[in-house]
Amino acid sequence: MNIDVQHSLKITTSECMNCQTCVNSCPKEGALNHQMGNKLMKPLTIIVLVMVVFFGSIFAAQALGLYQLTPAPLQVGESLNYDEVKGYMSIKEAAEATKTDLKVFYEKFKIPENVPETTKMKGISEVAEGYDLDQAKEALAERSGEAKPVSSEPQNTVNLDGIKGSMTITDAAKTVKLDIKEFYKLFKLPDNVPSNTYMKDLGNVVSGYDYHAMLTSLK
Ligand code: SF4
Repeated sequence: MNIDVQHSLKITTSECMNCQTCVNSCPKEGALNHQMGNKLMKPLTIIVLVMVVFFGSIFAAQALGLYQLTPAPLQVGESLNYDEVKGYMSIKEAAEATKTDLKVFYEKFKIPENVPETTKMKGISEVAEGYDLDQAKEALAERSGEAKPVSSEPQNTVNLDGIKGSMTITDAAKTVKLDIKEFYKLFKLPDNVPSNTYMKDLGNVVSGYDYHAMLTSLK
């Protein structure tokens, strides 16, 4: 930590992380030691104590539900939009989370074919030089926008962020506080689609319907 140990009588700075390297590497025994109150502590005791306090507080916070080491897994039936894909996910996991065929996912995100599906999204650039995940997401959003048919209808001003693939049409309409008929109109859904259809399943009910692309184009 670049602390001037040799010219100090006492190290009290918070920059000292108690690694005990200075104590252990000092050639003159007893010249450096760790003291708690008046008690001399062995370097190993300090290291164990620091680890217990550090990891103990993390585990305690986790046990109390105040802290999560890993993000909560997706619930059954839940899916992510393309702009919600996270860097810690592998390509395969991201494709599954967005309910996209793996090959189509590679195409949409412009991932070179030689990048293994187990590669983390944030690690693609290490395998494919010059790849930029944020740029790929932006380009994907732009392409969805271009695919939007030209219309004289006014721009959507409803905040659609709360919509998830695991919601039925009815629930999604309630979430964005839209009348069910307005919701059908906004999402260009044929009237004969049952309102208890899950948003993620619309592609199975309406031929050629791409829920993710529609949602992206409306945002
Ligand atoms: S215990 Fe570690 S961090 Fe602290 S002064 Fe010694 S070598 Fe530096």
